[in-house]
Amino acid sequence: MNKQVLLADQIVSAIHSVVGAGPVNLHEPSFTGNEWLYVKECLDSTFVSSVGKFSDRFEDDLVAYTGAKHAVAVVNGTAALHIALMLAGVKPNDEVLVPALTFIATANAISYCSAIPHFVDSEEATLGMATDKLRDYLQSHTHQKSGQCVNISTGKVIRAMVPMHTYGHPVDINGLLAVAHDFNIAIVEDAAESLGSTYHGQHTGTFGLMGTLSFNGNKTITTGGGGAIITNDVSIARRAKHITTTAKLPHAWEFIHDEIGYNYRLPNLNAALGCAQLEQLPEKLIAKRSLFDLYKVAFELLEGFKLLVEPAQCHSNYWLQTIILNADQAHHRDDILKATNESGLMTRPVWRLMHQLKPFAKCPRMDLTMAEQLAQRLINIPSSPNLLKIVE
Ligand SMILES: *Cc1c(COP(=O)(O)O)cnc(C)c1O
Repeated sequence: MNKQVLLADQIVSAIHSVVGAGPVNLHEPSFTGNEWLYVKECLDSTFVSSVGKFSDRFEDDLVAYTGAKHAVAVVNGTAALHIALMLAGVKPNDEVLVPALTFIATANAISYCSAIPHFVDSEEATLGMATDKLRDYLQSHTHQKSGQCVNISTGKVIRAMVPMHTYGHPVDINGLLAVAHDFNIAIVEDAAESLGSTYHGQHTGTFGLMGTLSFNGNKTITTGGGGAIITNDVSIARRAKHITTTAKLPHAWEFIHDEIGYNYRLPNLNAALGCAQLEQLPEKLIAKRSLFDLYKVAFELLEGFKLLVEPAQCHSNYWLQTIILNADQAHHRDDILKATNESGLMTRPVWRLMHQLKPFAKCPRMDLTMAEQLAQRLINIPSSPNLLKIVE
């Protein structure tokens, strides 16, 4: 038997030893709290749509949980990014720095502003934007003009950056805040994957001008579909609420809209799910951490890869458990994906890198060596918090 088969087989049996025989999904939601009660309340009250007490309560609950001063609940995480970028001042033809290693929503939202994604490399420890490499790159490829950061080769303004907290592991946000400050670039944090993750004790998404969350079905908690913008800036919060609710001026009966707005408000029905899910977030996070501990023990004696660990000074939500192959084992990735999926264990590689996708192939980018290496080495393994019940 060659080594390649061995590594894949070892991983298959180690995962089975943690999650049972399967089949097992990558990440599935669970509804074990007040979901039925709150959804029934919506139906009984007939407030199922854009107005209702759960939409307001969900925002208050998000404020209480994240420590952000304001939260605006919207229809999904992509819409949250779209509006956050607009409110960060991103205009048509601006460039926005974004990791090449991210889910496509981050880059799509930049395109919705008619702006141009500009791809940044990642660092191995966090999988997020590489701070020092970005600083060097900006130093040699941009100049400051009237307080704006201008890309020398395209002549376009680099208006914002969107660091993303990959799989729930916080990015080096202090380092990026310093770069953003020195180069006059706004930060919108894509915290879609990191609800419950903190950096030096502070919740992710609360460091930049705005942060965005997602409550899609595969995330740590779900509202079916949903998202939120969080911010400490009251005027941004007011603007966000206004343009996500069709920019309608308050009036008892008149329909007066003072700009082109969006119908992005999170419906009350979805928010009802969100309130119930948020109540269970602490126990879900504990379950996810315990699952990590079990994988750690199961993988302890295996060689050729590591389980991804939260960065120092950070507390990760461990949204997706991830193994990272040693660089010299990267060629085994597809065998491992095949062996695990064939034995009923749903595993996935990281997203195809943004600059390798047709819509973004021509976008500006820095050297992306690390992102390209990581893409060959990362594999997500079953991560649902309810998997713990199987082993109990
Ligand atoms: C899930 C996710 C989003 C937002 O997704 P929606 O499905 O629109 O809620 C954005 N960015 C990243 C990195 C994500 O994982």
